[in-house]
Amino acid sequence: MGEDLIEQYRIRSEPYYRATGNEIALYEAAYSVRMPLMLKGPTGCGKTRFVEHMAWRLGRPLVTVACNEDMTASDLIGRFLLDAEGTRWQDGPLTLAARHGAICYLDEIVEARQDTVVVIHPLTDTRRALPLEKKGELVRAHPDFQLVISYNPGYQSMMKDLKPSTKQRFGALDFDYPEHGVEAEIVAHESGVSLQLADKLVSIAERARNLKGHGLDEGISTRMLVYAGSLIVQGVDPLAACQMALVRPISDDPDMRDALDAAVATVF
Ligand code: ADP
Repeated sequence: MGEDLIEQYRIRSEPYYRATGNEIALYEAAYSVRMPLMLKGPTGCGKTRFVEHMAWRLGRPLVTVACNEDMTASDLIGRFLLDAEGTRWQDGPLTLAARHGAICYLDEIVEARQDTVVVIHPLTDTRRALPLEKKGELVRAHPDFQLVISYNPGYQSMMKDLKPSTKQRFGALDFDYPEHGVEAEIVAHESGVSLQLADKLVSIAERARNLKGHGLDEGISTRMLVYAGSLIVQGVDPLAACQMALVRPISDDPDMRDALDAAVATVF
């Protein structure tokens, strides 16, 4: 039963991932010793795609959890459910991955509350075990299990950060928006626009990224460029596509919008 369930998480075809350095080799080395990994970097820069690609490469199912502040430990571990036959235990995503040797990816882990985050601790040290207290079971992680978390250093405030006792359990890989030519290649591949047009979109993003910290919290991500490109492929005028996919989502302030619109206008 559990085996069938985990099969749903198997990645059947290769997710396109354009490496920007030696991250594939580093991940493989970390996986070979089952080191828990932290992928650090701004949102929309390729962290999720990378872990999808690596799960495919390593032939492991991938269980992804988008973390949020309402998430409880039970949401990760599992709970008893009531059905016609009585109560029945249902594994949460973390338990499922640990039992069956999947990679468990906790996306934006800092969004979760501290009492939720600590449940991962026993899985990240030599115990590699997960106590299901309510059920009275100690799940020993499958030898192929690995834990991966993502973390956006730009979002951290004094209130929202991982504790040092959590951080030091992980190896970390830094991610950032790729350099110009590589990012254009990714945008062209993902959206179907020409390399020439992708190159223009990347130029807009670069200008906007320089405004980060000067009224913009986050720059224009690779994901947003892919959206803009996809709209253009659908026949939307490039100016309108950029406003909709690049400018409007990240700015409410009229002056900032003007500045970003001006950046778009210099390119298209
Ligand atoms: P993150 O997890 O960092 O928020 P994603 O992995 O979801 O970001 O990336 C957003 C999108 O950007 C992906 O769906 C993909 O289209 C594209 N992308 C970004 N970086 C890469 C890369 N190196 N190779 C392939 N696609 C990428």
